Amino acid sequence: MARIVQKFGGTSVADIERIKNAARRVKREADAGNEVVVVVSAMAGTTNQLVDWTRQISRLHDAREYDVVVASGEQVTAGLMALALQDLGVDARSWLGWQIPLKTDEVHGKARIEAIETAEIERRCKDGQIAVVAGFQGIGPRNRVTTLGRGGSDTSAVALAAALKADRCDIFTDVDGVYTTDPRIVAKARKLGRITYEEMLEMASQGARVLEPRSVAMAMNHRVRLQVLSSFVDAPGTLVVDEDEIVEKRVVSGIAYSRQEAKITVARVADRPGVAAAIFGPLADSAINVDMIVQNVSEDGQTTDLTFTVARADLDRTLAVLEGQRAAIGFTALKPDSNVVKISVIGVGMRSHAGVAKQMFQTLADRGINIQVISTSEIKVSVLIAAEYTELALRALHTAYGLDEVG
Ligand code: ADP
Ligand code: ASP
Ligand code: MG
Repeated sequence: MARIVQKFGGTSVADIERIKNAARRVKREADAGNEVVVVVSAMAGTTNQLVDWTRQISRLHDAREYDVVVASGEQVTAGLMALALQDLGVDARSWLGWQIPLKTDEVHGKARIEAIETAEIERRCKDGQIAVVAGFQGIGPRNRVTTLGRGGSDTSAVALAAALKADRCDIFTDVDGVYTTDPRIVAKARKLGRITYEEMLEMASQGARVLEPRSVAMAMNHRVRLQVLSSFVDAPGTLVVDEDEIVEKRVVSGIAYSRQEAKITVARVADRPGVAAAIFGPLADSAINVDMIVQNVSEDGQTTDLTFTVARADLDRTLAVLEGQRAAIGFTALKPDSNVVKISVIGVGMRSHAGVAKQMFQTLADRGINIQVISTSEIKVSVLIAAEYTELALRALHTAYGLDEVG
């Protein structure tokens, strides 16, 4: 007998038929003699609608009330899933975050999980009752509802799997696994049988939506066996595993893209010590994360341009902060550009193979695609390019790294 956490994403519970379909999967796992804990997302589209409503009332909303509103989507599906299971003759009950309780910090809208009380759920599990947990939500130190950030029910699922010492955490979604790149954009994308935690973490952090980055980091730290699979077809999914569990090592495992970035060029700042600190200090104080950075060499030894990227959602705030520091920094203009995409190639094989970056630059050059900013890490190379080249760049790189033939 195994203990399994099954998480169903928004498309897998998008309507009543799909909820019933997901319930049948849960029942099958339980009938096989396993203990099952279910985590559900809101119905597809619901959270976007809820977010939009809060914005229509107030752009500068009280984040605590925002959480009350957006957490409601998961309440509906948790109840419906419990009903669907009961209808199949399965003993089931719903659990909201506060009922467990799943305790978080107080960062409303993007709270971190701090502790999960699992004794009661485990006791009922042993008696054959299935817990259906509302994902994405918890309770803060002041007894208020919190949410974990968009895509956060993946994190709820992995955190529960870790707390329950589950044998596996299955993430059911609308694709049948993790692909070499987004299969909705590149038709030749291939499903990966296995991917390492580290690669998955980079893929997720660089924009591959299929798993939320925090959920992967948590799975890696707690050694949760994670599987991504489809709730619509019966096919083996992708296992996220340790590096030594992968026999066939590739140099590049996947390519991710993110349209969530914006570029800012700070024009003609003095080329002297302290300028970068004057720019990035105030941004850090305002909790704005800077991602890629490039500073041009000054032609005259006097002034230079400095270019960096932030999350598109932070663009207006970034411009406001820098404008407020204009005198201290001493620039002539701020040039924002949201029409950019970040493309990242990822693979643990990069540690031991040279030439991955070169191949990326050459492939893009051959297509006439200009690279605006570059950043690298041990297992990743990212470039920023104009957004209109997203598909072309993804397809060209996919072919160049031999990913069309994986599998
Ligand atoms: P859910 O609602 O089930 O959480 P998401 O929409 O968050 O599902 O994630 C699934 C989507 O992730 C897929 O529909 C796919 O378009 C996208 N995606 C992006 N990159 C990848 C990738 N490398 N492999 C698989 N899916 C990907
Ligand atoms: N419903 C939430 C969202 O759309 C959480 C999730 O689906 O993981 O972001
Ligand atoms: Mg998701």
